[in-house]
Amino acid sequence: MEMRARVAGAALLVVGLYASPLSAESTYDKSVEASRLQEADGKQSLAIGSATDAAPQAKVSTVSELCQQVGRKLGSVSTSDCLAAKLTSDGGHSHNGLPMAWVEFPPLAQRQPEGRVLVLGGIHGDEYSAVSIVFHWLKILDQYHSGLFHWRVVPVSNPDGLLQRRSQRMNANGVDLNRNFPTDGWEKEAPRYWAWTGRNKRRYPGEAAASEPETRWIMRQIEAFQPDIIVQIHAPYGIVDFDGNDKPPQNLGRLHLNLLGTFPGSLGNYGGNKLDIPVLTVELPSAGVLPSRREQSKIWVDLVRWLRARLPREPGREVQATVADDLKAAAESGLH
Ligand SMILES: [Zn+2]
Repeated sequence: MEMRARVAGAALLVVGLYASPLSAESTYDKSVEASRLQEADGKQSLAIGSATDAAPQAKVSTVSELCQQVGRKLGSVSTSDCLAAKLTSDGGHSHNGLPMAWVEFPPLAQRQPEGRVLVLGGIHGDEYSAVSIVFHWLKILDQYHSGLFHWRVVPVSNPDGLLQRRSQRMNANGVDLNRNFPTDGWEKEAPRYWAWTGRNKRRYPGEAAASEPETRWIMRQIEAFQPDIIVQIHAPYGIVDFDGNDKPPQNLGRLHLNLLGTFPGSLGNYGGNKLDIPVLTVELPSAGVLPSRREQSKIWVDLVRWLRARLPREPGREVQATVADDLKAAAESGLH
C-alpha cells in the first residue's frame, strides 16, 4: 500500500521528500515511540532554545507573503492556490512574524449548522502532506460548503517550522508545539516525558506550558470559536487517532483507527481530556507524498460523514473559562 501510494502520488511529490518510515505499525507502545524518536534523530540539527528568550525580531508578514512562501515550499500547493483560499489573519503571528491565518466557512442563511469544526493542518512543520491536503479540502469546501457545519480551517499551524529553509517539526524556537499545550500536570509530566525521549530535540515541550505564540494563538482560536470538534492533520503514521469522550470513526479513507496514547502537552490530550472537545487526528501515510486525489477526497467525505453522525454534541461544556485560565497562567509565567 505504501508503494502504491508513492507511485500514485508521484505527480504530487512535495518538496523535501524523505522516506516515510513506520507507517505500518499497528499498535502504539513505548517501543513505537522509541523507534519514532530514532527515525527522527539525525534529520534535524536545530539547537534547542536558541532563541527562547528573544522577542520576535522579524517584521510581521502579510498573508500574501505567507502564500508566496508556501507556494515556493510545497510542490502541490501553488502561491495562487494559497491566495485563492482567502486566508485571513487577526494579527496573530508566529515567533518569526509569519501570520497565523485561517479561513472560515460560516453558517449560511436559513440553515442552523450542526456544529463548529476547527481544522488544524501542519502543527508539525516537516509534515508537508498535512498542510497540502488541507488546501485540497479547502477547494472542496469552497465549492460545496452547504452550511451543514460551521468550519474554521488553519492550513498552516506552524508556519515557521514549515517555511524554514529546511523544514522542521518544531517552531522557530525549537519547541514541539504538540507538546506545549497546557495539559493537566504539564509542569511535571512534560519534562519527564522529554527526559524519557533522551531529551530529543524534536520532542522539546518548551520551558513552560503554552510558552509559544503559536500554541497560545491556537488556544485563542479555541476560545473564540468554541469548536465542538477539533480535527488535526499529521503524518506519517497512516492511521486515525482520537482523544476525547466520543465515538471515533473506524476508518477515514484507507486510514484505520489506532489509538496512539496520550502525551503531556499534546493538542489531543489538551482538547480531548482537559477541555472536553474531542480531537480527531488524521495521520497521513507519508509526510512527503500526498495520498492520491481520490483518497484525499475519500478521507474528507468519510470525515464529513462521521461529523454528521456525531454532531450536534451535548451542550454544557465550559471551554472558555478553562482556556482563559490557561492563557492567564501562561502570561504570568513571564516567558513572553
Ligand atoms: Zn505530527
